[in-house]
Amino acid sequence: MNLADINEITKILENNGFSFKKSLGQNFLIDETVCPRMAESCLDKNSGVIEIGPGAGVLTRELCKTAKRVVSIELDNRLAPVLKTSVGEFDNIKIIFGDAMKLDLKKIIEEEFKDCDRVCVCANLPYYITSPIIMGLLESKLPIDCITVMVQKEAADRLCAKVGSRDAGAVTVAVNYFSIAEKLFDVGRQSFLPSPKVDSAVISLKIRNAPPITVKNEKNFFLLTKACFAQRRKTLLNTVSNTLGIDKNHIRECLKNLNISETIRGEALTMEELGKLSDIIFE
Ligand code: SAM
Repeated sequence: MNLADINEITKILENNGFSFKKSLGQNFLIDETVCPRMAESCLDKNSGVIEIGPGAGVLTRELCKTAKRVVSIELDNRLAPVLKTSVGEFDNIKIIFGDAMKLDLKKIIEEEFKDCDRVCVCANLPYYITSPIIMGLLESKLPIDCITVMVQKEAADRLCAKVGSRDAGAVTVAVNYFSIAEKLFDVGRQSFLPSPKVDSAVISLKIRNAPPITVKNEKNFFLLTKACFAQRRKTLLNTVSNTLGIDKNHIRECLKNLNISETIRGEALTMEELGKLSDIIFE
């Protein structure tokens, strides 16, 4: 079976009366080079893997071949008969029909991957929930080693940008705090059925054992980070004061203590500077 073959996948979907739902981000891969590269970049025969959104099962088949155990979570239960056809032959997979944003992934990992050396997330993500899914996985501090996912190219550039560069956003800081982010390869829009309006890229987030900086209060650190990027055209002084309601004189004082110019923009701060500023600004 070659699900990346447009004729084959079309036939399977038609035989099961399936029609694509744009609202669920249903763009299925039809490029046979992509799935093996994704699976091999993060898995070996002792790995467990969680897939979010198996769709028709093209990546799922590759995960079943490469990993020890696969758990695939799919929101759209109309895909049940399709997945039965595409991955029914494998005995190392469990498909859960539900919302990946709402399921207790920690419990799933504890219950399903007892005999695996490590657990990863590997998925072609539904684009409408890319950031919440990635941030949810990182912030919940799940016992996973890495996240290898396909996302929109613009999202990949932002997530993998250098903190302190123009491409960075609050999400870049958060992703870098929890993981080492790397863009693996680009995937053109013609590699999907139906073809979306944007190109994609596969990124790898290797989960850190410990954050690269130590902060007094993680919640405050992320609060400040979000405020720094909230009004990108304004200086840090103005955007932090406007967003968090902190007195400008106090912010000026904190910046002076850290030897940072009061005309700096939030996006120009390094991770270390953001950490130090959050430590003193909320005191
Ligand atoms: N993995 C398949 C592939 O590469 O061809 C399909 C990827 S498609 C971009 C995203 C899939 O995620 C769709 O099958 C969609 O139904 C599913 N999905 C959307 N929202 C979801 C959610 N909240 N939880 C789980 N799956 C979801």
